[in-house]
Amino acid sequence: MIAFKKGGIIVAKKGEARQRVTLKCTECDNQGYRTEKNKRNTTDKLELNKFFKKCRKTTIHKEEK
Ligand SMILES: [Zn+2]
Repeated sequence: MIAFKKGGIIVAKKGEARQRVTLKCTECDNQGYRTEKNKRNTTDKLELNKFFKKCRKTTIHKEEK
């Protein structure tokens, strides 16, 4: 992770904004993927198009909350 300086002070610390998220298939409601996101850069819920074995096709996976 890149630490950037603001007014001479390092504001970003290593691992500070990382958040673990579980992605859920929108078609069969199964949890499919785990990933990480940067809370600071990604404030919206994650949505990824992924091939899912249980559906045997590519479906939209949304962040579970
Ligand atoms: Zn599915």
